[in-house]
Amino acid sequence: PAAEAGLYSPSDQIILLNPENVESVLANSTAAIVAEFYASWCGHCVAFSPVYKSLARDIKEWKPAVDLAAIDCAAQQNIKLCSAYSITGYPTLKFFHAYSKADSKGEAYKAFPRDVQGLRHRIIDKLENQEPWPPACPPLEPTSQAEIDSFFETNNVQHLALIFEKASSYIGREVTLDLLQFENVTVRRVLSTEQDLVTKLGVTDNIEARHFYSYALQRLPGVVRSGRPPLVHIDHPTNSTEEPWRPFNRSRVYMADLESTLHYSLRVELAAHTVIRGNALVSLKKYISVLTKYFPGRPVVMNLLRSVDSWLQNQSGGEITYEALRKILDNSAQSPDTALPEGVRWVGCQGSQPHLRRFPCGMWTLFHVLTVQAKSTSPRGTDPKEVLSAMRNYVRSFFGCRPCAEHFENMARESMVEVDSTSSAVLWLWSRHNRVNNRIAACVLNSRGQKDTRAFMCLLPRHLNTIQPTAFIHPSSLSSSVRVAVFPSFHSQSPGTHIIRLTSALSEDPNFPKIQWPSPEMCSACHTVRDNREHKWNKEQVLPFLMSYFSSSRILTDYLE
Ligand code: FAD
Repeated sequence: PAAEAGLYSPSDQIILLNPENVESVLANSTAAIVAEFYASWCGHCVAFSPVYKSLARDIKEWKPAVDLAAIDCAAQQNIKLCSAYSITGYPTLKFFHAYSKADSKGEAYKAFPRDVQGLRHRIIDKLENQEPWPPACPPLEPTSQAEIDSFFETNNVQHLALIFEKASSYIGREVTLDLLQFENVTVRRVLSTEQDLVTKLGVTDNIEARHFYSYALQRLPGVVRSGRPPLVHIDHPTNSTEEPWRPFNRSRVYMADLESTLHYSLRVELAAHTVIRGNALVSLKKYISVLTKYFPGRPVVMNLLRSVDSWLQNQSGGEITYEALRKILDNSAQSPDTALPEGVRWVGCQGSQPHLRRFPCGMWTLFHVLTVQAKSTSPRGTDPKEVLSAMRNYVRSFFGCRPCAEHFENMARESMVEVDSTSSAVLWLWSRHNRVNNRIAACVLNSRGQKDTRAFMCLLPRHLNTIQPTAFIHPSSLSSSVRVAVFPSFHSQSPGTHIIRLTSALSEDPNFPKIQWPSPEMCSACHTVRDNREHKWNKEQVLPFLMSYFSSSRILTDYLE
């Protein structure tokens, strides 16, 4: 079984959902729940996780009214659950109002912000508009002169704090929620348009300082934490143990990665779609069809792909259920010569941590192999874009990392039309993959912050052959979390030039830095230098390199069952 450690741990103040606790957490809860559905392999989820963790710390006082939860949809035991909540892309954030029914799928936040403040505001927006109101949630609407006049007659508290603010400000509501677990103090917001109150109370200042207000109010004489026990029982699933590291050759392709990718895509990623119809069904048929034609798999796996392909071709209705497809995937497995091994066993795509590499690495590798196989084996007259279109459709319809799918679709829309031969298809995928490497690389100097006077190539804003020195950052200003990505053979070519782009290193495995691939060590003939010393790919060499690197005869079969 796969190692399934999620992105969050019990100390993060986030409820870790699993099939056993989901109903008790989400259904009929006295607090509203915001739940993140993520996939641990998805770089955007990895990048979002520190934000979600800080949000949890930031609004921990709000728990009786609204609490945070998360679930790893890439974990085998959670797949069905995520599918039941109609999760098809990651990360998805859903709001479950208090007393949600057991069959509620929650309300998805569309295009949610990726910063703590933005998220806090969106949570308040939902809290304000929900029915029923969580019993522990204080009123959030602005108060009025009349209410204040009679406040101490009707309320038995020592302090009333009024926060004067513009209608668009969230501070008043945030401080109200920050004080929710404190007794003897009530916080209300007053809109600055309440002129009479503003004048009467002599309000002059308008400092926007949520933490300052909350801190001061929590420490007023007589104000005490109410000691309410947490309303939601927190139940932590155990993370299964990490698998042992499998030694492998970094310059080879492994069948174990390709089969793991098929397993994950057919049994996990597709399983998120209860019913597959329309364009998604077309995508699935094309995907299986190119796999059947070009996947250089073991006979048992090929038999399985063929039986799925012929079953799909016979489906004349406009839709299929995933359940029916799953039966074909599993029924076939009863025959000893037809099977796709269950579970994943990453080898060349192993990551140094459970959330790095793996499935997306396998997906790239699979499609490089398929474009290369199509070039070697497809008969004349075959559509040269056949494999790329299948990939484009699969990514658009099913690839769980939705921002990745959007980026990929943009690249495809921009230039896939130029592909006019199976060779240019191989090169197109190679160069687009390098573009992605380039975009997401954490590109950096010396990790110890030592001064490094060598020139080095980072992964640059554009393609390598259009490099311009873009920035010079003194190494001492780099934090220790940034890392080196170096093109060694270029050290001597433009001494003294440092070209740096710092990006989030979160989805990059430190042991597998994003480089413009293949490196000069792997294929020195692939690289040349122009007269002006800029780098240039030698595509005449890159093509045979790719043809050999991804060829079926070089694929290693170690670690297969
Ligand atoms: P990967 O980039 O996954 O590469 C796998 C292997 O392929 C490498 O180990 C290497 O051996 C080989 N390789 C590397 N470059 C090339 C190349 N140019 N040509 C041929 N082979 C190569 N992540 C994001 O953060 N943002 C995105 O927008 C994004 N878009 C994606 C789009 C798609 C279609 C896919 C499949 C993935 C996307 N990802 C994105 C994920 C990201 O590209 C990596 O797959 C992931 O970070 C794992 O990286 P990795 O180090 O395992 O290497």
